[in-house]
Amino acid sequence: MTFSLVLTEERLYAKEHCCSEMSEQVNMSALDAKSPLLGSTDKRIYWSPVFNEYGLICQPSAEVLQIQHCPFCGVRLPESRRDQWFERLESKGWKTWGDPIPNELLSHEWK
Ligand SMILES: [Zn+2]
Repeated sequence: MTFSLVLTEERLYAKEHCCSEMSEQVNMSALDAKSPLLGSTDKRIYWSPVFNEYGLICQPSAEVLQIQHCPFCGVRLPESRRDQWFERLESKGWKTWGDPIPNELLSHEWK
C-alpha cells in the first residue's frame, strides 16, 4: 500500500482514460479547490499527468492512495513515471522540497 503526496503546482491536463467513468472522475475539476488535481468532494480518483499515476483521494490531506487497476473497468493502469521524473529533476540540480521545480517538469509533456 503506497500513499503519495501530490505536487500542488502540477497543472490539470484533461484527456480520455481507460473508460468513461474513469475519464469523468479524473477530468472533474474545481477551480476554487486548493489543488485542481484533487478537485472537489465529489472527486475520488486522482491522476497525475506528471507521474502518470492514479490514486484514491484521501481528503482533507493532500495524500493519495496509489492504485494499479481501474476501479470501474478493472484494466491494469500504466506504469508510474515517478522514479524517472525524480531522476530528471535531480539532474536539473534540484535537491530538496522548497527548491523550485522547473516549469517543464510540471507538465505531462516532460521527456
Ligand atoms: Zn477504467
